[in-house]
Amino acid sequence: MGEIKYKRILLKLSGEALMGKQNFGIDGDVVKFIASEVKEAYEMGVQIGIVVGGGNIFRGVSESAKGMDRVSADYMGMLATVINSLALQNALENLGVPTRVQTAIEMRQVAEPFIRRRAIRHLEKGRVVIFGAGTGNPYFTTDTAATLRASEINADVVLKATKVDGVYDADPVKYKDAVKFDAITYLEVLNKGLKVMDSTAISMCMDNEIPIIVFDLFGKGNLKNILLGKKIGTLVEG
Ligand code: UDP
Repeated sequence: MGEIKYKRILLKLSGEALMGKQNFGIDGDVVKFIASEVKEAYEMGVQIGIVVGGGNIFRGVSESAKGMDRVSADYMGMLATVINSLALQNALENLGVPTRVQTAIEMRQVAEPFIRRRAIRHLEKGRVVIFGAGTGNPYFTTDTAATLRASEINADVVLKATKVDGVYDADPVKYKDAVKFDAITYLEVLNKGLKVMDSTAISMCMDNEIPIIVFDLFGKGNLKNILLGKKIGTLVEG
């Protein structure tokens, strides 16, 4: 095997990544596939933190939350991420990958509370740590939670898994002539309003000098190849 480029990573999965072709909820086969990709990375000895979104179940800013108090709706969204975290934990452990779930909102019967030093200890012991409940605060997203946790655990990179294979100058689904960037700066992402992650998340990575790689998680072997330094997806950095 080649040299491993990133030793500690923060993988961000959107909730929608877990729902496969369904338009709601969790698709067991898709979660299994994601777990098998993570297992490959785990077997390379890479330390892995994961933040998973909740959009497949509930989003604070959405039609189903219309008329609701924003803060309550956001708490519902955060709870949705915990459901996804447990699904992922199960799938990983079924493949023999040791994991811990830590939540930003305490629910001790379900998972450990987020304790930074403990999370780092788990990583050092070779456990995959899944961070649930976002940042624990309303008005944020799980993209921001991912960049926050990445900063806290000193991750070498944030790997933002998407359904497309990188960042384009226009929506590649709508515009056939959209051009993919191999690399782009944080400021370009912000100035061009590119939909990579929300601006809070991008600024956080910029301030803490953590590169982001946007890639297609459903390309088999992509995660492993990124860790080996192959040029996959779009690199966002200074
Ligand atoms: N959320 C929140 N604070 C956080 C993270 C998430 O309030 O720190 C809520 C918010 O309502 C959001 C929902 O949880 O809409 C689900 O997260 P997100 O939309 O980021 O999930 P994804 O788009 O990645 O599936």
